[in-house]
Amino acid sequence: MTAPRVVTVRRPCGSCGSVEVTQVPLPLPSGEQMDFVSCQECEANTWYRADGSVANRDAVLTEVTAADRRAWKRL
Ligand SMILES: [Zn+2]
Repeated sequence: MTAPRVVTVRRPCGSCGSVEVTQVPLPLPSGEQMDFVSCQECEANTWYRADGSVANRDAVLTEVTAADRRAWKRL
């Protein structure tokens, strides 16, 4: 058992560049740790891969199983 990591990195909005965002760590079934970023300025959603690159939304959803999508609806 390891304690959850405290996320201190604030990724900017992928649409407008604002740092006024809500960042949620999001592990994929593949084991990759992504960050879901919801902008409070323009309400855009951005997915960041572990390496910091922006992920395509459709590509992310393809990697999420039907079971996991139930959990995603809380976002
Ligand atoms: Zn924005």
